[in-house]
Amino acid sequence: MKEEIVQIEKIKPKLVNITKESGIPLIGCIAFGIIDRGSNLLQIRCTSSCNMKCGFCSTSANSFDIHPTNYIVDINYLFEETKKIAELKGKGVIIFLDSVGEPMSHPNFIELGGKLKTIEEVEEVVVITNGTFLSKEKIEKLKEYGLDRINVSLHSIDPERSKKLFGMTSYDVDKVKDALVYAGKIGLNIMVTPVWVPNVNDKDIEEVIKFSKENGFGIGLQKYETYRYSRKMKKAKKQTYWKFYNKIKEWEKAYDIKLKVRAEDLNVEKRERIPEVIDIGEKVYADIVCNGWLTGQMIGKAKDRCISVNECNKEIGDKVRVKIIENKNNIYLAECV
Ligand code: SF4
Repeated sequence: MKEEIVQIEKIKPKLVNITKESGIPLIGCIAFGIIDRGSNLLQIRCTSSCNMKCGFCSTSANSFDIHPTNYIVDINYLFEETKKIAELKGKGVIIFLDSVGEPMSHPNFIELGGKLKTIEEVEEVVVITNGTFLSKEKIEKLKEYGLDRINVSLHSIDPERSKKLFGMTSYDVDKVKDALVYAGKIGLNIMVTPVWVPNVNDKDIEEVIKFSKENGFGIGLQKYETYRYSRKMKKAKKQTYWKFYNKIKEWEKAYDIKLKVRAEDLNVEKRERIPEVIDIGEKVYADIVCNGWLTGQMIGKAKDRCISVNECNKEIGDKVRVKIIENKNNIYLAECV
């Protein structure tokens, strides 16, 4: 594996504090807030920051040339808004505390998890993490607050190879493994979710499967995918879904363990959506509220939604007329008109 370990650049991204008082809506931007894809599963994103720099990161977290801004959301604001949406969804809501970065890097993450678990309609709260912030104390709190599962991305159990995959010399796989074993011992449900990067960590995946099996953890193997803004590993081979699922079947047989996670395993079902309020092609006036997640973007607010406006040179406080060019799952992208 020739990929270099890269350190997070010295320059710091702009950090936007999203509070109720800021007036920034929690629906509309992929990088923070609440994502509803029309089911009983809500993705709750409390921060976009991450402490790692994986060579295959699908969101390119910590590439400040792509993402010059990070966000941190006040947990009381996030709790209040999630509660309203959970009421609309009804019983059996599943919360994924996930992120385009590392959710546990939020200083009040554990408290947020505990608060969300108290919402009447919420049945399950799942933490999606790289595992680096899991201390004994935090694990005990998660257990005390009744959180249901921790999904941890573990791509190798070899210390040096893990550092390379996570792109950071500070990554300590033994610490993560110890934390998982402890969490399992005190009764937390663990799901290990390695990304299989073909030609990079093939053998490592088998070691992760063995480690998970030995400790009674579930596994949800993830496929390495590349996108316009994702980080790519030079040595990684492209793979079809056919090949991916065939290899999964082979490993499932060899290790007598289930590796493929299906939607029905997660109890996800269709539910009423949060109303989509602006159509594609529609023109609206938006108030600029903060910098955007991608370079050149600013975030505007209209009809209680965030709208990411491409190539926008307006300042916070300005009003801008925009045309919506994308609206998927209430995530709005626009251009200035
Ligand atoms: S831990 Fe996750 S968000 Fe952070 S760099 Fe790695 S893949 Fe990206």
